[in-house]
Amino acid sequence: MDINYDRLWKRIHSLGKIGIDETGAITRWPFTKEDMLAKEWLKNEMVEVGLFVYEDNVGNIIGIYNPANSTESPVICGSHYDTVIHGGMFDGTLGLLSSLEVAQTLKENHVMLKRPFYVIGYKDEEGNRFSRGMIGSKVISGKVSEIDFCSKDSQDISLFEAIKTAGYHPEKYIESKIDPIYASLELHIEQGKVLEDNDCTVGVVEGIPYIQRYKIRMKGISGHAGATPMNHRTDPVIAMCNWINEITRIVKNKPYTIATVGKINTVPGAPNIICDHVSLTLDIRSIEEHILNECLLEIKEYEKKLEKTGIHITYELCQNIEGVKCDDRLKDMMESIMKKRNLSFIRLMSGAGHDSQNFKDRCPVAMIFVKSKGGISHRKEEYTSKEDCKNGANVLLDMVLKLCNE
Ligand SMILES: [Zn+2]
Repeated sequence: MDINYDRLWKRIHSLGKIGIDETGAITRWPFTKEDMLAKEWLKNEMVEVGLFVYEDNVGNIIGIYNPANSTESPVICGSHYDTVIHGGMFDGTLGLLSSLEVAQTLKENHVMLKRPFYVIGYKDEEGNRFSRGMIGSKVISGKVSEIDFCSKDSQDISLFEAIKTAGYHPEKYIESKIDPIYASLELHIEQGKVLEDNDCTVGVVEGIPYIQRYKIRMKGISGHAGATPMNHRTDPVIAMCNWINEITRIVKNKPYTIATVGKINTVPGAPNIICDHVSLTLDIRSIEEHILNECLLEIKEYEKKLEKTGIHITYELCQNIEGVKCDDRLKDMMESIMKKRNLSFIRLMSGAGHDSQNFKDRCPVAMIFVKSKGGISHRKEEYTSKEDCKNGANVLLDMVLKLCNE
């Protein structure tokens, strides 16, 4: 059985017209006119496919395929239909419309399933309007918080108010939790270049990394750039350079681990003064929490050497985001499907966060990545070929067939 890729391609372009500006960029923020148009379009498509369709209390759109009237826990599958400001046509959209295409293919082939199959269009994943993001999936997984609902847009409208004004019932969000869930699947564009660099059409996502962000301060001894001999310096800039090399070496030796120093500030920051101190940011990500901690222990060990030269180092943890490991059994299942379909694939880590991560500890989670041309995303140039879309959606189809019959 195969999905109908012409139909999928046509739908991607139809949804891509909603919120598009004269430059070709798409902006579809939650609870705006564009969002409501997209919602109506999507609901109509789902109804035409023959799904049982409803909107929950915060505006997630859910289409159910359940020909056997099964009361088993469902397999849920979907992605978001909002975009960033001036975004592209494939982020979120491809995963959602692939799920719909899978449902239509099953329906056309009169496939009976042991479990219900839910196609879900998640609300407000990007968090561009209200800053928090992943609201729809947080509600469905039962992980939404008061802070999420209180977040405000630039017009001082809270998310709660916006949901209410759009005609939903945010006060009854608890009723929109889906429980139990048998498994959660999501197809998404990669948004990076790993698949392209490895000449792969699809990828098995290992997980979404744990992220820690630090502000680090390295204090040395300030001095005259001309009058201080090289062997009498305690220069924090030199220490920082060595430190950056060391953290780079450490993470390169670990699986699926990356580190970035994205911002550096030297103080006082004059050409003829040896700095007093430097501050820098560290963004470190790993698929395994223990690996991330190991990296930090190793760099702390190295810092002892720097401390001996008179450098004093302090850390401030700014952000600590929990990661998700995709389910091992589902990853193996997906890999064997890709092999059977003769697709070029690899396993890779997701660099970005996704709706799927909210289903951690709720049910097994699996994600399929599809190649993004040039790794471009969150821009109008975002592109995934028809062939790659087809391959990804076919893998999704096979996953749904397997899981819904367990
Ligand atoms: Zn996305």
